[in-house]
Amino acid sequence: MYPLGLRLAGRRVLVVGGGSVAQRRVPPLLDAGAQVHLVAPHLTPALEAFVASGRLAHSIRPYEPSDVDGAWLVLALTDSPAVNAAVAGDAEARQTFCVRADDAMLATAWTPAVGRHDRITVAVHADRDPRRAVALRDAVVERLADGSLDAAFGRGEPRTGVALVGGGPGDPELITVRGRRLLARADVVIIDHLAPHLLLDELPAHVEVIDASKLPYGRYMAQEAINSALVDHALAGKFVVRLKGGDPFVFGRGGEELEACLAAGVPVEVVPGVTSAISVPASAGIPVTHRGVSHEFVVVSGHVAPDDPRSLVDWPALARLRGTLVLLMAVERLAKIAATLVAEGRPADTPVAVVQDGTTTAQRSVSGTLATIAADVQEAGIGHPAVVVVGEVVSVAARIAARLPPGDA
Ligand code: SAH
Repeated sequence: MYPLGLRLAGRRVLVVGGGSVAQRRVPPLLDAGAQVHLVAPHLTPALEAFVASGRLAHSIRPYEPSDVDGAWLVLALTDSPAVNAAVAGDAEARQTFCVRADDAMLATAWTPAVGRHDRITVAVHADRDPRRAVALRDAVVERLADGSLDAAFGRGEPRTGVALVGGGPGDPELITVRGRRLLARADVVIIDHLAPHLLLDELPAHVEVIDASKLPYGRYMAQEAINSALVDHALAGKFVVRLKGGDPFVFGRGGEELEACLAAGVPVEVVPGVTSAISVPASAGIPVTHRGVSHEFVVVSGHVAPDDPRSLVDWPALARLRGTLVLLMAVERLAKIAATLVAEGRPADTPVAVVQDGTTTAQRSVSGTLATIAADVQEAGIGHPAVVVVGEVVSVAARIAARLPPGDA
């Protein structure tokens, strides 16, 4: 076997068959820019969507030998060995390589297990053992993703500037692929109190880790100190990852940090993250929307009380909503917030759940109603950090949980 990479951009590729194998093989061909012509009497819905979007040419009929004309590559992917054999025979006669879904030994070309990372393509042929090929590919891609391969070989383009990375809600597995990749390249990591600290374990020893919650002075100055730390290290030629909890732009002052970098002329990239506003309820089984129950969710900061003159929140308007309210930074002022919502018209028996340390091993939660939740939280000893969910979706979660087999709840 002779491995090869094909540049298919603008070149005609014939795919015969419109089932699940074609559905897996077509997207990478389109991604490579190939002009894919698919011939099949029937298509899967996903393939139909490609046709509808204009990216895929489709002939709705059985295969004809002239279909092979002008193709650089042919894929025979039907579930009929006889059709695949006919396609392969016609391709052979025209000296065109042909992949076969049914019998690799009869094919003139094999598709490897493919993985991509950054601009690296990993392709594995494992002597016709597809599971082994996939396992090998995964092993290599995984090591590329966590940076250990690049670290072992001292490779990877040097980077400078700043990346504002959303670290997700706490579970180290809930950072994005891109976030993890950039973290592996960091010279300096400035981490928030609520960012997933378990990720620091993966960092090589030379990486400087700065705990942003320990930076000096009061609240306002602390942000100034963080901004200067970002800028100063970047200007010194370091690649700085600012690892934040959840998403950088959801109550994370990410906008200010972005602005500070731009003002200093430091190149900066923002990597979105999985916000606690959605993922922490989810980890307690609460969907923030549910068909027929809630057509909206509103994410609100509870860090200032409703009657505080600094508050920018229209609580009476929120109290009129029927959907889901997600409150962050609200445990401390929960009694006042719940009372305000009831006073402004949200029914006192509206279900409420409070989830602390969501997605971590310490996760716990309590539920009640707007009338009871402040007392419930106190009694259960729930504290910071916690997400408060107000609305009927909380009862939906209870209903769903009741269907789980015992032990899975
Ligand atoms: N940028 C973050 C939010 C920062 S504000 C994000 O997108 O998730 C900090 C608040 O987020 C906390 O007070 C708490 O309300 C919530 N929070 C963050 N992580 C949490 C977690 N693991 N469990 C519960 N609440 C969390």
